[in-house]
Amino acid sequence: ERQETISVQACIEYALRLFHSRLRDGNVRVEQQWPDETLWVTGDLVRLEQVLVNLISNALHAMKETPASQLTLSAALAQQQVTISVMDNGPGIDDAHLAQIFEPFFTTKAPGSGLGLGLSISSRIMDDLGGKLQAKNRDTGGACFTISLPFSPLAH
Ligand code: ADP
Ligand code: MG
Repeated sequence: ERQETISVQACIEYALRLFHSRLRDGNVRVEQQWPDETLWVTGDLVRLEQVLVNLISNALHAMKETPASQLTLSAALAQQQVTISVMDNGPGIDDAHLAQIFEPFFTTKAPGSGLGLGLSISSRIMDDLGGKLQAKNRDTGGACFTISLPFSPLAH
């Protein structure tokens, strides 16, 4: 497994770039909130990016019927942990499903449009990277997925 020091902001921007035309064609507003200071984490850039891609893809799917859809990506540093949140303003996660969404093969998508593996794999990847992945609904409506990872102060 690759171990490199990665800028979280750069990683989010790589992941977002993959969705460039979908965001434009779907009229999705993107909001990015993070500090100027580079947030360094150690791990495999490709795997962290894979998690972000899964979360962004789920968020866009959830907002398919949402007028004025907005994708918010934020990153912050607190208590030596870097957190990255992927938020949408879709319908949110059904309360009855919150406990199950990380289970392999759990999906509410139509047959053929989701295998139900994205979140279980993403959660495994975060464990391997020494971090975690959590889900909640936002007070304002929509879902919020938060990744946390140890900050790598050695990068300075
Ligand atoms: P899949 O995308 O194939 O369904 P995932 O593991 O990525 O599998 O997600 C599992 C389920 O979690 C989804 O089917 C959906 O019910 C729920 N979910 C994931 N992301 C969101 C989101 N942003 N908003 C609402 N529900 C979500
Ligand atoms: Mg998915």
